Amino acid sequence: MAFESLTEKLQRVFRDLRGKGKLSEADTKAALKEVRMALLEADVNFKVVKQFVKSIEERAVGAEVLESLTPGQQVVKIVNEELIKLMGSETTEIKMAQDRDITVILMAGLQGAGKTTTAAKLAGKLKAKGHRPLLAACDVYRPAAIEQLRVNGEKVGVPVFSMGSGVDPVNIARAAFEKARQDHNDILIVDTAGRLQIDEQMMEELGRIKEALRADWTLLTVDAMTGQEAVNVAKTFEDKVGVDGVIVTKLDGDTRGGAALSIKAVTGKPILFVGMGEKLSDLEQFYPDRMASRILGMGDILSLIEKAQAEVDEAEARRMSEKLKKAEFDFNDFLDQMKQVKKLGGIAGIMAMMPTAGASMPEIDESHMGRVEAMILSMSKEERANPSILNPSRKNRIARGAGVDINEVNRMVKQFEQMRKMMKQLPGMMKSKNRGGRGG
Ligand code: GDP
Repeated sequence: MAFESLTEKLQRVFRDLRGKGKLSEADTKAALKEVRMALLEADVNFKVVKQFVKSIEERAVGAEVLESLTPGQQVVKIVNEELIKLMGSETTEIKMAQDRDITVILMAGLQGAGKTTTAAKLAGKLKAKGHRPLLAACDVYRPAAIEQLRVNGEKVGVPVFSMGSGVDPVNIARAAFEKARQDHNDILIVDTAGRLQIDEQMMEELGRIKEALRADWTLLTVDAMTGQEAVNVAKTFEDKVGVDGVIVTKLDGDTRGGAALSIKAVTGKPILFVGMGEKLSDLEQFYPDRMASRILGMGDILSLIEKAQAEVDEAEARRMSEKLKKAEFDFNDFLDQMKQVKKLGGIAGIMAMMPTAGASMPEIDESHMGRVEAMILSMSKEERANPSILNPSRKNRIARGAGVDINEVNRMVKQFEQMRKMMKQLPGMMKSKNRGGRGG
């Protein structure tokens, strides 16, 4: 997960400051040195780091003292605000063209950056918002790209226009626009050629397609895992053809996050979306404030809620919550819950969005979850609905079915019962907590 070690290091800095009643200049300097190191280790562009630390220093040492905050909190607040600023402050949304019925989005990027996948992800996202996109396959150099776009387009339910690989991409793009007009599509997403490295011909061709279609948005896809190289690529594309925004892919696999933190500052262009996985639903709108919050370990509950709303059936969630209250929760429900968790990216995916400030991350063992699932699947319908009938011989059979030790079945059933008991008490606990006045 992106920013893992940056988050950890920043939290250590803040923890050290937290206890202090007053910050001396030396304290601040020492803390800033740590922040600087943490950012450099996260592979943030060194000029960006320098400017960033300077801004924080000016503000931290300056007169800005708020009564309500301790000096340590004050620094966290400033770092948070500066991080948001660094990533562009505002969220950039794709606005529709005003002067014609079709908005043209050009997808640019180096081969392997995730451009073709992202084109389909974006098409799916826009479709879900009520648009009628058409995808156009103009990457005629990578043989598999056209087929890949067709397959992914089908998965997200968006039509794909292609003319094979023997036609000039500019002509394909023009024909795709015509097709979009005929079919009343309101968005045309054009997948252009990627090369292993930047070359003149690619830039020139991209420029020609951009001009021929009067592209409204030229979006550059870069791979987060390439770090500063991604930033250099973005700078070059911006200089040579001009881009309107950047999509940073594979943030899920990038533990450092330097590209996401440097792109806006270096290129002046905002990040619009981030790719968080290989699934076609793993494209997220980029919110500088939420990302800053994630980096600082304050969690990104808003994104988690949005994801849950998109992926989880609400009626089902309500039904479940009723069951929980009445303690009717059985193994069937447990299994359903595990499925919902999987949809949200597994426990690790959920934890990544949860606030971790001050708390250490619990050890989560997804393979254990897999075994729990296997045990429940080895139960009969009746056993799942009525766990109290689980006697030793039944447990033995379940253990054999799931390929685990009987002790593990015993443990799991015991934990399940404890959980059920706890849930029964939960409504009462919540009430007394609220009565306590100050809340959580
Ligand atoms: P292109 O050459 O730029 O068109 O790249 P592709 O779309 O073929 O993607 C290259 C690889 O990156 C594929 O295996 C994709 O599944 C993968 N990929 C794309 N975006 C993401 C992402 O956000 N996260 C992860 N983990 N993989 C991604």
